[in-house]
Amino acid sequence: MGKPETTVVGGGLVGALLATLLAQRGFGVDIFERRPDPREAGYAGGRSINLALAERGLHGLRLAGLTDEVMRLAIMMRGRMVHRPDGHAELLRYGRDDSEVIWSLSRGRLNVALIDAAERAGARFHFNRRLESATFDDGATLRFHDDVDGGTHEHRAAFALGADGAGSALRAAMNAVRPLGERIEELGHGYKELEIPALADFPAGLLPAGAAEAFARGGRFAIERNALHIWPRGNYMCIALPNAEGSFTVTLFLPSQGDPSFATVDTLAKARAFFERDFPDLLSLVPDFDADYAANPVGVLATLYLDRWHLDGRALLLGDAAHAIVPFHGQGMNCGFEDAVELAELLDAHHDDLAWTFAEFERRRRPNAEAIARMALENYVEMRDSVADAGFLLRRELGRRLAERHPGRFVPRYSMVTFTRMPYAQAFARGAIQDTLLHELAAGKSHVDDVDLARADALVTERLTPLA
Ligand SMILES: Cc1cc2nc3c(=O)[nH]c(=O)nc-3n(C[C@H](O)[C@H](O)[C@H](O)COP(=O)(O)OP(=O)(O)OC[C@H]3O[C@@H](n4cnc5c(N)ncnc54)[C@H](O)[C@@H]3O)c2cc1C
Repeated sequence: MGKPETTVVGGGLVGALLATLLAQRGFGVDIFERRPDPREAGYAGGRSINLALAERGLHGLRLAGLTDEVMRLAIMMRGRMVHRPDGHAELLRYGRDDSEVIWSLSRGRLNVALIDAAERAGARFHFNRRLESATFDDGATLRFHDDVDGGTHEHRAAFALGADGAGSALRAAMNAVRPLGERIEELGHGYKELEIPALADFPAGLLPAGAAEAFARGGRFAIERNALHIWPRGNYMCIALPNAEGSFTVTLFLPSQGDPSFATVDTLAKARAFFERDFPDLLSLVPDFDADYAANPVGVLATLYLDRWHLDGRALLLGDAAHAIVPFHGQGMNCGFEDAVELAELLDAHHDDLAWTFAEFERRRRPNAEAIARMALENYVEMRDSVADAGFLLRRELGRRLAERHPGRFVPRYSMVTFTRMPYAQAFARGAIQDTLLHELAAGKSHVDDVDLARADALVTERLTPLA
């Protein structure tokens, strides 16, 4: 049996990678994207200008043959640079050395590289096509609104693959036929983006002292470039990721209600006063604070849970359309890229039985999506609060020592998620065992040297099997 024609809805990060992988395997691919072609119109992202790429995402890019092109513009982030309220900053490394790092990438550039790759492989893009409705008989009939010609265009597909993001229109159409068990849990915190410009773009006279020295030495970045910066402040925080040009995208994460919150910090004067009190060093690096704060919207953060991801063999969801998560582990895209790889491989091997293939995809991926959803929520508390807590830092240091003493057996959960492709659910389960162990060993201790390492070694060997 020849390979069937495939239809992908959504040409964002996951849809474009999936289209590439399917086209490379000889499938015909039509891909419909509501936005204009970003290569002509410029990228209209609407959210998070840059994002962190880790091993799972890198694997997808490698299979698409894109690593050289994409990594040329990526900036290495060795760890979290934690900025404390007294202005002191400290780098907490993510891994053992520079072989265990994450990468800051421009979402727009990455999307364009993926669209180019998909087209080179033979996929047919249809831009300005917004899915409005879909009906299902023995296949799928998709109706798209074209924002340019104002018309409605029908496309008949044997089956539809939905990579149209958290607000997926395909999901709504599937849900109308057979409820998917959708549950959306809002975090109750939102986000707003600001910018630290490249040194050369700072208005004259506004360069803070340290940055002025860096500029004089020919530097481009106002703060350490090879780090993910965090200003943890308990119930809220700011983070900053570097961009290739020398700027940083800053994101403020803040509760939606309560004090302080986006509800109380509701004027420019209050926003400035809030930053002067809690983030004075950061404020001095954002010369266009008022303009950024006024112009950039407050983004909503939520986790999407579904009981079912597919409508037998006629439609299937992947990426954020199936499992949008909060961004605190930097894994939403990475997880979506894993989806794309798994689906392309499954379809390649089993396109003769789509209902089975889609069910198998859901069986393999849903427990992992649920595990990373949970870890992403937990990581918010770690980033905004625990990184400034002495007990957390002690357990973290003990974890690093145990990892050195038991390589391949005790691996920090962050490392399993970020530097390996071990299923998320397995990383979650092993992480829980390790966390209990660290709490037991560190209880009542004020320094890592006080921990009984002989007992620690015995417990590690007893409770953790070696990784394959
Ligand atoms: C603030 C923030 C920071 C993040 N940081 C990271 C990070 O550091 N690392 C990481 O891995 N992930 C991160 N993420 C998550 C990541 O952005 C998403 O997981 C990823 O974009 C999902 O890709 P996707 O293709 O499934 O969905 P999307 O990126 O949302 O793409 C969906 C595409 O479908 C199109 N579309 C939507 N509706 C329709 C329609 N009706 N018809 C046709 N087309 C349609 C859209 O225009 C879009 O192009 C972050 C998210 C946020 C909000």
